[in-house]
Amino acid sequence: MSEFVQRCINGDCRTVFGIDEAVYVCARCGDLLEIERTAAGVFNPGALREIWRERRMSLDGRNRSGVWRFREFLPFDDDVEVVSLGEGNTQLYDAPRCAQYCGVEALKLKHQGNNPTGSFKDAGMTVAVTQARKLGMQRVVCASTGNTAASLAAYAARATMECMILAPSGQVSAAKLAQALDYGAKVQEIEGNFDTCMRAIRELVEDGSAYLVNSINPFRIEGQKTVAFELAEQLEWRAPDHLVVPGGNLGNSSAFGKGFRELVDAGLLDRQPPITVVQAEGAAPFARFFRERAAEIVDEEHPQTLASAIKIGAPVSWKKAWSAVRDTAGCVLTVSEQEIADAKAVIGRDGIGCEPASATTVAGIRKLVNENVIKKDEAVVAVLTGHLLKDTDYVIKYHEGKLVAPDGARIKSI
Ligand SMILES: *Cc1c(COP(=O)(O)O)cnc(C)c1O
Repeated sequence: MSEFVQRCINGDCRTVFGIDEAVYVCARCGDLLEIERTAAGVFNPGALREIWRERRMSLDGRNRSGVWRFREFLPFDDDVEVVSLGEGNTQLYDAPRCAQYCGVEALKLKHQGNNPTGSFKDAGMTVAVTQARKLGMQRVVCASTGNTAASLAAYAARATMECMILAPSGQVSAAKLAQALDYGAKVQEIEGNFDTCMRAIRELVEDGSAYLVNSINPFRIEGQKTVAFELAEQLEWRAPDHLVVPGGNLGNSSAFGKGFRELVDAGLLDRQPPITVVQAEGAAPFARFFRERAAEIVDEEHPQTLASAIKIGAPVSWKKAWSAVRDTAGCVLTVSEQEIADAKAVIGRDGIGCEPASATTVAGIRKLVNENVIKKDEAVVAVLTGHLLKDTDYVIKYHEGKLVAPDGARIKSI
């Protein structure tokens, strides 16, 4: 018997599913599922920290992975055959130019772009594809703006599974498409946007012939939550004063929320950091929900931003992300296309490359410092989600002064 189950997050439902049921959402009410331990774990924080540190020196692939190193908190038995590319263990950089630009004394960047396929998606994918293999699945599928596709294609190849991807036609960067093709995925382009693809893929898996690995899949969130563990370790088991992440489909912010919650529950951290989510102005349903204190999120029919990884109008994981923001007293805000582009260039001047979506964080921090929400002596960590080389077209156009925002405005370079 596994000590883990999948449970519906809807407070009025709370239906439980076995850990090996391929359900994705609650079969009774349709809400999201979350993986939960059946009995509260009893942990020795000192011993765990020691084990995790020692594993880094090990030659065993599971111990070297920045995700599986923390497997005491993952919903598998110890003998599971993992599908890993040595993900995680990413740098936490000091970024003095970014700090100065934002008006804080110090700023750290947790660079999840330094993963095997160049985005944070790998941390979740290693766990979701491991689960797919455990279930005996032959075929894995996802809807993607690019990075999920690249990541899934790589892990599916490692597991010798067939991989199919639905992507919005003409909207995926050449680099991300190239990765998916090189790893042997079948890519089908669909007229419409990411949200159209997401709806289509959910229908496609209804007959059970393929395993869905978008972040609606709670195993993705389990992998991504380990980034909170790794970050806590890098900060010597002290929570930062602010953790800032970009928000698209909102799986990443949900995962940080769950990760930090579990760290506090296990006695590994004394408090959760406030989690702040930054969206692009033209694709900001979650920010609007937050600003208006609405009861439900209202989808954005035509999301617009050059930061293609967060060009999402119907974020699947908004309820989990809202718990993360609310429970930690964080906030949600938007930044403009010009602000994203400038912040990205400043990050570059620190010798650190990221893709446009990642730069929303630095732009957001600058705004929050101006509004005095973040104080200049506070410890701030921004999560960079993707690698610079994911979208070089954007970078070149920006530096040539030829970048044009979706509303037709010319973006100036600094
Ligand atoms: C997927 C992705 C995001 C958005 O993450 P969500 O979990 O969908 O909110 C942001 N940046 C990059 C580079 C991504 O690949």
